[in-house]
Amino acid sequence: MLDEALDAIRRRSWERIVVFTGAGVSADSGIPTFRGAGGLWRNFRAEDLATPEAFARDPALVWEWYEWRRGLVRDAQPNAAHLAIARLDRALVVTQNVDALHERAGSTRVLHVHGELAYARGTGRTNKRYRIDGGPIALGQCCEEGTQLRPDIVWFGEEVQHMEEAGALVASADKVLVVGTSLSVYPAAGLVEYARADAEKFVNALEMDDVPAGFTFRAGPATQMIPAITSRWLEANHHR
Ligand code: NAD
Repeated sequence: MLDEALDAIRRRSWERIVVFTGAGVSADSGIPTFRGAGGLWRNFRAEDLATPEAFARDPALVWEWYEWRRGLVRDAQPNAAHLAIARLDRALVVTQNVDALHERAGSTRVLHVHGELAYARGTGRTNKRYRIDGGPIALGQCCEEGTQLRPDIVWFGEEVQHMEEAGALVASADKVLVVGTSLSVYPAAGLVEYARADAEKFVNALEMDDVPAGFTFRAGPATQMIPAITSRWLEANHHR
């Protein structure tokens, strides 16, 4: 009897929270979203650069864009939304972002479904990853002869990473918090469809035409909206 009660308490306090984020969570850190203000680089749209075709056509240009983005991220700081998410210490973060601001804010369990700016990988057989946030790397410098080094980023048209794991985590979550994504880039956007009907579900963005079924929409900057939601959750957990 006591064991059962203890188990129930343990289960409740080890509630599963999944936070799913997109470019909007980092916007207030000064990192532009692709479609928002400041999303262009030298008049190129992201869709003109973040593709395998663009890299095949002009790898130096694509690398230069990523160097610029890596610099932006290096100079940026995690904001109040990243920090609030990190305070949910057992939460799992699934992010479409390629920056490392969740980790820098203190989140320890982060799945990057669209890759990471801090890594490059070979285009050869082994696909070995290299950490490259120490500064620019020489083009063509690589493990296997004849292969090229490319950003370890999931480009438009490429396969999203860790989707199965992310889907399973969303499906088992008691609380799902979606932050700063238009939910228009598939298949990652489809993750919200795995959320359980009885889970508590919030979605935050500046605006949203189609709020996913069962989600409560909170319009406004993540830096204001997210701490309000997470502190209520932390409080509720504390009083359990
Ligand atoms: P998107 O259109 O899915 O996300 C932008 C969303 O963020 C919009 O819904 C907008 O309303 C919302 N938003 C903007 N500012 C916000 C704020 N301050 N608070 C809350 N919400 C805010 O994403 P995108 O820009 O088209 O990016 C597509 C993909 O490109 C991403 O999934 C990611 O892989 C990559 N990307 C990454 C970064 C990054 O790592 N920081 C930045 C840009 C793009």
